Amino acid sequence: MQTTPPSATAAGKRYNKLERAKEMDTAKFKKMLLDERDRLELEHRIQTENLAEPEAELANYDSHPADTASNTYERTKEYAIDGNIEELIQRIDDALRKIEDGSYGICDRCKTKIKLDRLRAIPYATLCIDCQESLERY
Ligand SMILES: [Zn+2]
Repeated sequence: MQTTPPSATAAGKRYNKLERAKEMDTAKFKKMLLDERDRLELEHRIQTENLAEPEAELANYDSHPADTASNTYERTKEYAIDGNIEELIQRIDDALRKIEDGSYGICDRCKTKIKLDRLRAIPYATLCIDCQESLERY
């Protein structure tokens, strides 16, 4: 039995469509963030495995101080990259949490909306372009 007037159904459909469009946007960013997180975790794992390998062989090179020095340099460099990956994963987790609590895309500093173009380029951005630039100046 149909009791709903056709006009009300049409209005309801239009409303649902708008709501869905809004949610779809967040879902898209969530997917981007999760993809990026997967990629970083894989990279992180590869780097960790690469670091573990030379560790075991390092003892064999004790008689070559020059090699050891350059190894140490390489390792330090890799640790620095490693740190950045963990920081990025942390930022992605923060962004995912913000999607859940509805504060995603809001600048941490001035509380205005971050431009969509910026979020598309850096989905885990927590600052609008103005705040980011003013921070980088110092
Ligand atoms: Zn801002």
